[in-house]
Amino acid sequence: MSAPRYHLTSYGCQMNKLDSELVESRLRQRGYVAAASEAEADVVLLNTCSVRQHAEDRVWSKLGKLRQRKRGEPGLVVGVLGCMAQEHKRYLVSRMPHVDLVVGPSAFGDIDDTVEVARHKNARLAAERDPARTKHEVVGAGVVTVDQGKSGDTIRRDVRVRPHRSQAFVSVMRGCNMPCTYCIVPTTRGDEVSRPIADIVEETQRLCDDGVTEVTLLGQTVNAYGRDLTGQGATLARLLRALHEIPSLRRLAFITSHPNFLGPDLVDAIAELPKVARYLHLPAQSGSNTVLKAMRRGYTVERYFARVEQLLAKAPDVELHSDFIVGYPGETAADFDATVAFLQRVGFAQSYVFKYSPRPGTVAAELADDVPDAEKERRNQVLLVAQEALTVAKNRALVGRTVEVLVEGDSKVDGRFSGRTEHHRLVHFAATDRDLVGRYVPVRVTEALAHSVVGELLPENAAEAGAHDPAETHA
Ligand code: SF4
Repeated sequence: MSAPRYHLTSYGCQMNKLDSELVESRLRQRGYVAAASEAEADVVLLNTCSVRQHAEDRVWSKLGKLRQRKRGEPGLVVGVLGCMAQEHKRYLVSRMPHVDLVVGPSAFGDIDDTVEVARHKNARLAAERDPARTKHEVVGAGVVTVDQGKSGDTIRRDVRVRPHRSQAFVSVMRGCNMPCTYCIVPTTRGDEVSRPIADIVEETQRLCDDGVTEVTLLGQTVNAYGRDLTGQGATLARLLRALHEIPSLRRLAFITSHPNFLGPDLVDAIAELPKVARYLHLPAQSGSNTVLKAMRRGYTVERYFARVEQLLAKAPDVELHSDFIVGYPGETAADFDATVAFLQRVGFAQSYVFKYSPRPGTVAAELADDVPDAEKERRNQVLLVAQEALTVAKNRALVGRTVEVLVEGDSKVDGRFSGRTEHHRLVHFAATDRDLVGRYVPVRVTEALAHSVVGELLPENAAEAGAHDPAETHA
């Protein structure tokens, strides 16, 4: 009998992509193989995101198509995983009989068992995080009880599911305890739970033994890492210092940070540890104190600036990345103008801009969504244009300089490869030698584009000559 084939589509954030790697690893260890396409799969899994309406809409649309397919293929197994499974479990179970699995983010440790049960017993089951009980709830015909899932963080990852052999993500904590009014994450992902430093070091060492040289630590508020590990003195700064000792690790990044937890110990670690990436993703969300207060972000514009200045005083080569939400309820034109000025004053290297959309179950969803769509779109465009001007200026400043690039693979343009600098800047260059993938190479920048740069590959010994993305200022 041929091995069962799965197809997994991942929506949303980097944390979801890592979860998808863990789910795939579990299935492969169970003998499943990846289908060449969704149409050829026996098991179709959607790892979903609830953070934005757009991501949810894509999943509902996909489920509509799968409903039709399943009419002709009753043996097909359809699973909804992740945040939408957590958030919409009742609806999925009661209104979508073609969905066989509904598995929340904390139940991935047993995902292979869950898929097997659904495949062989044709049972519909729903597993979700439930801190009050030790069992997952199971719903539907052929009731099955599944033991409390391990979050998935301890699953040994199959090298075949990592998109890049030299790069890996490592989850250091899950959940979030912050009260941001617009955000569904604390509901879908639960309270902060940090992994012990020793576990993370052990996993990272294993990945490095397996050829990984760049690790990105993941957490919803990654720089709040360790505050739930009472009495252990675990902080992100300590974790970075411990991981820095792994000899074959060359780059160490972490996302996403919250401005309130950028303390002196973390600033010192960033400044002192040469393997730590030279960019910091520090979402500001707004440049208006009125909006920040309404969002319950817990800081002011002045406090954000002060933290950034403390960081840049010690680590002036670090670039800042941000997220912004435009059109939050009550955001006036003056609030928005303050955000544009704030973005320009900090001089972010990169920003993601989102138009506010209410998420049911959040505090902000109770407020009037009073900024018209057309105005949200206008603000979105204005902020994107302002950010692009900053990004292009930073890219232009690199022309003529040599940067060290970790080669990731083919660029979208034929005959080119692409990779990233220690500032996370995307670099394209002409090359044909596939052995370059996963290596660190010197590239001289020749052209600045809106979101990347183009360069020419230099001989590898040119790295000595200054393979360093130069210091750039922000404020
Ligand atoms: S810090 Fe705020 S925006 Fe970020 S995950 Fe937590 S609640 Fe959501």
